[in-house]
Amino acid sequence: MITFLSGGTGTPKLLRGMQKVMDPKEISVVVNTADDIWISGNHISPDLDTVMYLFAGILNTDTWWGIRGDTFSTHEALSRLSDEEYIAIGDQDRAVHIARGNGLRHHVRLTEITKSLSLQFKVTANVLPMTDTTVTTKVRKDALLVHYQEYWVKSKGQCPIQQVVYLYGTPPIATQEVIEAVEKSDAVVIGPSNPITSIMPILICEGLTDAMEDKCVIAISPFIGDAPVSGPAAALMKAQGREPNSKGTFSCYGNLVDLRIQDIRDPVEVDGAIRLDTLMTNEEKSVKLAREILDIIACR
Ligand code: GDP
Repeated sequence: MITFLSGGTGTPKLLRGMQKVMDPKEISVVVNTADDIWISGNHISPDLDTVMYLFAGILNTDTWWGIRGDTFSTHEALSRLSDEEYIAIGDQDRAVHIARGNGLRHHVRLTEITKSLSLQFKVTANVLPMTDTTVTTKVRKDALLVHYQEYWVKSKGQCPIQQVVYLYGTPPIATQEVIEAVEKSDAVVIGPSNPITSIMPILICEGLTDAMEDKCVIAISPFIGDAPVSGPAAALMKAQGREPNSKGTFSCYGNLVDLRIQDIRDPVEVDGAIRLDTLMTNEEKSVKLAREILDIIACR
């Protein structure tokens, strides 16, 4: 068993390869839920959806969100009625958000809802939200705190930001299912996800880093030089006073990590890091990287 910590793009690209080289039943994924948001009365959990759709074989891997071939009739109709619909949500995708929202309104745990959705989609990997309570990533833009989705999707990350904060009512606790998955695992892989908006919210869940302490922990950088492969990670790292590169990424994880992996093209030198081709531009490349990471784990 291997446990992966995942957001909704970089780590799913690695999982796309992993599911080809190991039995998905041996894969647990602890997924960030701090990007979650209610839109038009329904609960979007972008990273959970991407990971679930990936294992279900229905993910749109052109965009790394939503269901391949989905239609957008409801989104188009709702867009004419309200300006709340700033995220393009497909009709099939929205059905999942409606089901999840209904479950949450009936006080069903997000872990249970995810389990039942996974079952419906015949997902055999163990897909787990990081926690069952609400954590929300917001960015500080002058005097305002703006939801991460609003900053990245609505404003396209165009505005300057000064800080990233994780807001919650009760401090988040890693679920029992998450802790059990880590305890059963031979290794924990922190995938090449955004350190600030995907990995740090997972790591702040109480109990997780303690459970990871005795495990072989491998982290893969999402940066090549001072630019992430995609997305706003550089601006977010700077806003948190971190170097926007592989060094800054690994500094976020501190002593938790045993093996650091950075791309062969990365000009930034990280002492002791292993160099691999981490650019997963197609499934073949994801499979190759997955195989290399499994070999590294087997040699430990
Ligand atoms: P989000 O939830 O959609 O923001 O996605 P993640 O946090 O999972 O992933 C975003 C990060 O993935 C970005 O910082 C990218 O640099 C990184 N990324 C995307 N594709 C690749 C890739 O092929 N290789 C590596 N090393 N990083 C990638």
